[in-house]
Amino acid sequence: MNIKENLLYIKNTLPEHVTLVAVSKTKPVLDILTAYDAGQRIFGENKIQEMTQKWEKLPKDIQWHMIGHVQRNKVKYMAEYVSLIHGVDSFKLLKEIDKQAKKNNRTIDCLLQIHIAEEDTKFGLDENELNEILQSEEFLQLKNIRIVGLMGMATFTEDQNQIKKEFRKLHSIFSTIKNSIANITILSMGMSGDYPLAIKEGSTMVRIGSSIFGARNYH
Ligand SMILES: *Cc1c(COP(=O)(O)O)cnc(C)c1O
Repeated sequence: MNIKENLLYIKNTLPEHVTLVAVSKTKPVLDILTAYDAGQRIFGENKIQEMTQKWEKLPKDIQWHMIGHVQRNKVKYMAEYVSLIHGVDSFKLLKEIDKQAKKNNRTIDCLLQIHIAEEDTKFGLDENELNEILQSEEFLQLKNIRIVGLMGMATFTEDQNQIKKEFRKLHSIFSTIKNSIANITILSMGMSGDYPLAIKEGSTMVRIGSSIFGARNYH
């Protein structure tokens, strides 16, 4: 695996309006530095503890994105530095992020995660829950978070039509709220296996891990 080659290849194929999040979960600090030296500044992790250890060791101009499921009691560990939280899937979590952001005297950008996959193992809000949050009085009181877009994960399947259908659905929800709410600019969808399709369907941010860093070994 040549990390630099992979990274530059992918960067060159992405349209200009699409932002690349290099997903470095499980990968060592040295791999991240290789990508950093090749110009990459946005990295995605799915565990707060692991991300925080890496943040401590690595250059401070890296933007850290939390792309995994977030436990409320761990928000405090990343509130000082996290640049974007992709997986916000409840109002309770949003309130905790607001509280911790306030403690750190900052505003934290968030994406609301929408459930688009067929599997019920994937987290996320449905359209009704999304609208409930966005229209609630309480939401307007949260001054230290900013909703800047939506995130979703398609079903893990070979069926391209199924994936396309799910991406389309997410894009359509995105278009609707973009027209009614300020600051909504990011649609985070697409991973190594499906990002070209995600971009065709309107993604503005792709989260790519294994196609840059190689397959992950969890043992
Ligand atoms: C791991 C992960 C990715 C990257 O997956 P690859 O298939 O390695 O590109 C993207 N998004 C989320 C939410 C992930 O957990």
